Amino acid sequence: MNEGIHKKCPRCGAPFVCTHDALCQCVGIDLNEKARAYLRTHYSDCLCRECLLQVSREMQ
Ligand SMILES: [Zn+2]
Ligand SMILES: [Zn+2]
Repeated sequence: MNEGIHKKCPRCGAPFVCTHDALCQCVGIDLNEKARAYLRTHYSDCLCRECLLQVSREMQ
């Protein structure tokens, strides 16, 4: 059982847990290609759920 790594969101500074498995919030959220490209170029690590949702909304 992967308990995940405690990380700090590079965008908003909120603490969150990244599991980097099938349940990771990075893949659990339905991001479009634009949002994924934006995250790839601006951040080398995952963001918290709130930020991922925000980015996916902004990149519609
Ligand atoms: Zn965040
Ligand atoms: Zn992750």
